[in-house]
Formats: sequence, C-alpha cells, structure tokens
Amino acid sequence: MLEVKNIKKLYGDQTALSAMSFNAAEGRIVGFLGPNGAGKTTALSIISGYMEPTAGSVRVCGFDIAKERKQAMRIMGYLPENPPLYPEMTVMEYLRFVAGLKGFAGKKGALEACNVMKLTDIVPEKEKLIGQLSKGTKQRVAIAGAIVGTPKVLLLDEPSNGLDPGQTAGFKKVLKNLKESGTTIVISSHILSQISAVCDDMLVINRGRLIAAGTKEYFEKKFLKEAGFLIDIPAEASECERVLSPLKPLCNVRFVGKTATGGCTYSLNDYKTDIKKQLFENIANEGLYIERLAPSMKSLEEVYLGMIEASEAEFEKAQKRVRRIKTEMIEKGESDENDLL
Ligand code: ATP
Repeated sequence: MLEVKNIKKLYGDQTALSAMSFNAAEGRIVGFLGPNGAGKTTALSIISGYMEPTAGSVRVCGFDIAKERKQAMRIMGYLPENPPLYPEMTVMEYLRFVAGLKGFAGKKGALEACNVMKLTDIVPEKEKLIGQLSKGTKQRVAIAGAIVGTPKVLLLDEPSNGLDPGQTAGFKKVLKNLKESGTTIVISSHILSQISAVCDDMLVINRGRLIAAGTKEYFEKKFLKEAGFLIDIPAEASECERVLSPLKPLCNVRFVGKTATGGCTYSLNDYKTDIKKQLFENIANEGLYIERLAPSMKSLEEVYLGMIEASEAEFEKAQKRVRRIKTEMIEKGESDENDLL
C-alpha cells in the first residue's frame, strides 16, 4: 500500500533524514515515533508529496509520488503538523473546498463534507468561521479535511495536538473506522502513549535514522521480557544496601521506597545472568529474608526512551571520533580550525 525506499533529505549540509525505508500494508496503523527534531515532519512531508526528497522514492498504491503525483495525492490524506486552514471560510465551505480538490464536485462534495463532519463530531460547528473556532475544534476540522474521500493512505503529523481527552477518544474511534475500511495510517508523535494504544506497527526514529521497526507485539515480546523484579526486605536501608551492593556490578539496583511496615523496596533489573541465587544467598547470610518478590515489567515507554538514549550515545561516540580525526588533521596542517565548527 505504501512503499518508502531510501528517502533522504539534506537541508544545506544538515542531514535531516538518512536513507529511510519502510512498507506499510493495507489497514495497518503505523506509529511513527521519535523525539523533537528526529525527522518525522520531514519524512511525512516527503511521503505526502509536499516536499521533494534529496534522494529516494515513495509509492502509494503503486503510484510513484514524484512521477504520478496527481494520482497518488487523490488517494492520500495528509494532516500536516500546522494545518493550513482558511480562517475566513466556514467549516462547511472549507470541507467542500477540500472535497473539490480531491475530485468530489457539487453534491458529491457536500456529501463528503457532511460525512467527515459526522465522523469528527463537528456538525454543530459547520456554519462557524474557522478563525473563530477553539484550538481543539480547528484540529478536528483539519482532521476532517485529511479524511475526506476515505483515503487509501492517511498521514497524520502529531494529530493529537490541541485535542482534549474526550476529543482524543473520539479521534481514536475515527482511526478505528478508517482502519476497518482498509485505510493505511501513519501517525507521528514524540509521545509513545499517544499512539501505542492505536498502532499495529511501530517505527522509532532518531536523528533522521530508523533505529527500530516492527509490530507492536514484536516490541512487547522482544523488549518487555527484559524487565526485572521488585523485592521487599523488612530491614533498614543500610542493611539492605549491604546485601545488595555485591550485586551492583551484575545488575541495576534501585531503591524504590519504604514499605508500609518500615522495610525497603528495591528494583533489580538489566541483569545478564540470573542473579536470584546470589541474591537469596546474600540475604540469608545476613540473617534477612525477602517479604515479597514481584516481577516488574518495563513499560513500552521505558523501552522507547532506552532506545533513544542508546542511539544518542552512539551518535555522541561518532561525533567524538570525527572531532578527533579533524583535530589530528589540523595538527598536521591538513585542515584549519573552521572545520571543527
Ligand atoms: P518535532 O517533533 O519537533 O516536530 P520532527 O521529528 O518532526 O520534530 P523535523 O521537523 O522533521 O523533526 O526536523 C528534523 C531536522 O531537520 C531538525 O534538526 C530540524 O531543525 C531540521 N529542519 C527541519 N526543517 C528545516 C528547514 N526548512 N530548514 C532547515 N532545517 C530544517
């Protein structure tokens, strides 16, 4: 349905996207996740046909976005991060205008406008000027515009911007309806919880690169099992520290808080080998015992943040390498200081 192949974007000499590729199948909701500045907006602008890539190609239902732009855009919906709404138009006028652009003229256009207003719950606003609407309602008008004609592929850049919890719940229903009618949806956010509830697949990007991709189940199976466990020890923190310190080179030991009975709760995770045997021995040797042991699951949010952290560390390492090489070149007189900037 959607094929993105090696898309790359340079702004001057800054690489905003480097060779990004992915496919999205019919009726799938793909979460496009990454921190601010990761390249989500750039990628979606290219996929939507609004921006030309420096290299690479995009196919929408087989249509090449560069060579068959008109055909591709007719079957695609796009909600940009800052939707260009016309404040002097009424909601109805605007949606009929958008319907016209997508090839729905006259009565057909009016029907399409009414349909998307119902889906996004903005019928009572239809005669109001867009400029007079609240932020959340403006965003729903923009979403309505993006789904005119039930697109085959729908691209949504931070769609929850400005929506309150009730409107967000309504928006999720809209996504569900579209998915059921076979629409492929790509939805970007820097907040995992905003999309993890609705997406089937996840693409994690940082600094213009895809750093992880797969179904949501793949992420859950692969990463959530890396969790550790929580223990309650009915003893003072100093005593607990004494038995847990020898485990610190083997795993991450963290004080969580005091228990209701005055003991301490610790979390132990990120261990490479099973540490339970040593833990039980250490505790018994000190004459202590474990009051409660419970598995602790890493949340998907922690997994996502961990990935971004690891990717940042890798980037820093590469940067340091480049600076070292440049410094050596300056010292040898093969380059000048400007190259370090
Ligand atoms: P956000 O979540 O903050 O919207 P994003 O993931 O959508 O971020 P982009 O807006 O695509 O990220 O930006 C990716 C990188 O490209 C950033 O470093 C940004 O500063 C840069 N960039 C984006 N647009 C331009 C532009 N028109 N000219 C120069 N640099 C740009």
